[in-house]
Amino acid sequence: RWAYVNGRYLPHAQATVHVEDRGFQFADGVYEVVTILDGRFADLDGHMERLGRSLAELRMDWPAAPRVVERILRELARRNGLVNGSIYLQITRGVAPRDFKFPANAKPTLVMTAKRVAAFAKPEQLEQGVAVITVPDIRWGRRDIKTVGLLAPVLAKQQAAESGAYEAWLVDSDGTVTEGSSSNAWIVTGAGTLVTRPPSHAILNGITRLSLLRLAAERGIPVEERPFTVEEALSAREAFVSSAGTFALPVTRIDGRPVGDGKPGAVTMALRQAYLDYAKGSTAA
Ligand code: PMP
Repeated sequence: RWAYVNGRYLPHAQATVHVEDRGFQFADGVYEVVTILDGRFADLDGHMERLGRSLAELRMDWPAAPRVVERILRELARRNGLVNGSIYLQITRGVAPRDFKFPANAKPTLVMTAKRVAAFAKPEQLEQGVAVITVPDIRWGRRDIKTVGLLAPVLAKQQAAESGAYEAWLVDSDGTVTEGSSSNAWIVTGAGTLVTRPPSHAILNGITRLSLLRLAAERGIPVEERPFTVEEALSAREAFVSSAGTFALPVTRIDGRPVGDGKPGAVTMALRQAYLDYAKGSTAA
């Protein structure tokens, strides 16, 4: 297994950064996870574009030109022989003596790791759907930036795991669901309308989310981008989560109560297939 650190491909065990890296001390960094599906990068352009946006929002420099970063990503996938898996890419503001203010001359740190995935979903997750719990959304006010400051999602996901659930849905003070701890949240109403929260500072605008919205529109599925409450989700016909590694994954229980008939929904599974077909037709890895 190979990793990449600041210009070098290294065996995974030797891939390290300095203790005064600002990612380590301040979570002063951004990241992306790009999935490789049957030898193709899923939505690579979308992930690169969002990475540029995250960097710009934090006034951080690219460690190298975007096309160079993309070349490294491809090379790391190649060196790891990745056919199905993902590349994790992180950029921090660099190494500097600890001081909250931006360092004057730090070079950004670029690291990438590769992961093989045997199956993106377990058969029972697709046959029965997954469970989610709901927890208060205690994150900061700029969730649209994909930063490595992930303590609230870590606590939420741990709580979900300890409750036997797959994911935690984060709920704002007004009772609406913002998103999952590492996924976007969706429902399909009784009338068959696909509902997901619109992009704002309250959520990360998922790249998978954007592709699913386009695929739904192409298939004539009515879409409403608006917030929904936990109560509405519980009375919906279907629910699901989306992310780079899960595509669209059916949610059939929320806080222990069934969604719809308690089985994965038809719209969810059709969108999952549509995404897989779309991703397999995209850029070769
Ligand atoms: N929301 C949050 C908070 C996430 O961490 C993720 C996954 N990175 C997503 C949504 C889904 O985004 P994407 O489809 O780009 O993976």
